[in-house]
Amino acid sequence: MAVEPPAKKKCLGVDCPNDAGSLQCPTCLKLGIKDSFFCSQDCFKKNWATHKTVHKQETKTGYYNPFPTFPFTGPLRPVYPLSEKREVPKSIPHPDYAADGIPKAGRSLRANKIDLLDATAQEKMRKVCRLAREVLDIAAAALKPGITTDEIDEIVHKACIERNSYPSPLNYNHFPKSVCTSVNEVICHGIPDKRVLLDGDIINLDVTLYHDGYHGDLNETYYVGDKAKADADSVRVVETARECLEQAIKEVKPGTLFREFGNIIEKHAKSRNCSVIRTYVGHGINSIFHCPPNIPHYAKNKAVGECKPGMTFTIEPMIALGKYRDVTWPDNWTSTTIDGKRTAQFEHTLLVTETGVEILTARRDDSPGGPVPMPAVENGSK
Ligand SMILES: [Zn+2]
Ligand SMILES: [Zn+2]
Repeated sequence: MAVEPPAKKKCLGVDCPNDAGSLQCPTCLKLGIKDSFFCSQDCFKKNWATHKTVHKQETKTGYYNPFPTFPFTGPLRPVYPLSEKREVPKSIPHPDYAADGIPKAGRSLRANKIDLLDATAQEKMRKVCRLAREVLDIAAAALKPGITTDEIDEIVHKACIERNSYPSPLNYNHFPKSVCTSVNEVICHGIPDKRVLLDGDIINLDVTLYHDGYHGDLNETYYVGDKAKADADSVRVVETARECLEQAIKEVKPGTLFREFGNIIEKHAKSRNCSVIRTYVGHGINSIFHCPPNIPHYAKNKAVGECKPGMTFTIEPMIALGKYRDVTWPDNWTSTTIDGKRTAQFEHTLLVTETGVEILTARRDDSPGGPVPMPAVENGSK
């Protein structure tokens, strides 16, 4: 099959750095899947075991890429149709944007007006953040090759409802689903769809719950299957992102300037030959999902203000293997790296105390995920 691939197309092989050649997967061609280009017969064979799972879902009729002419920056594609909007029982208190998609509370907040929570509000933040951790752990335990991100969304949605909580992303500025699922080159805000996870993928799950008037927000990046844990670049970007967050949190205490976190994060990212995404920032969080302060993750930023006891905010560095610049898909949400290289993120909701910090969304002893050692470098390393 000597169909000329369009310029710029990348080989579909997992982590293959090559441009696509003219070789297309013959099964995909039969199924009418047009984007399955590989660089070589060798690469095609090597990737067959994971690639063929694409056929299974595409043979079910009706799946499609809604943006066929969009110049995607990496191998990932959206797989539509999205599932029906999931409902939240009326008995569960909804945030003010749930009906029309437009957040109203806090619209007039000035950037330097940062809430200090009293003991009652702090206790409510503790509660919702603990519930959010439970939901993230349940979703993470379900990750495996073959599951779709839409199935993860269903799990998150149900787990929220079981905890008498509203999944905060649902209809926030019209986001269509209950969790953000960001795979491989997706930086953040990935929309759960019908794509199956493949052995070798990495995926970030970003969970936020609204319970008893307060939001709790956290995310982690996970390895799907054993292949990702054996891939040096994937481990480097995921573990660097994890360490960047840990190092920044160590400096959270009264008096620390907000602008300092970016210096800590970028210094560590650079030492691992990674870059820091600049477009998306950490944020204040309480009865409002996103409020002041903004917490940039890059060095030499100009954020104004300092940590004070009673503040609650997130730090959520996004770290990339390649360039820091981002490109958003035509769905107006999915943010990807401009070079299609992988990216990873971790997030906690934090409470500044009199002496330091309380990690409200801290991992539990039995939380899935956690650090993975760098794989031994084989010859022909990337
Ligand atoms: Zn989040
Ligand atoms: Zn957040």
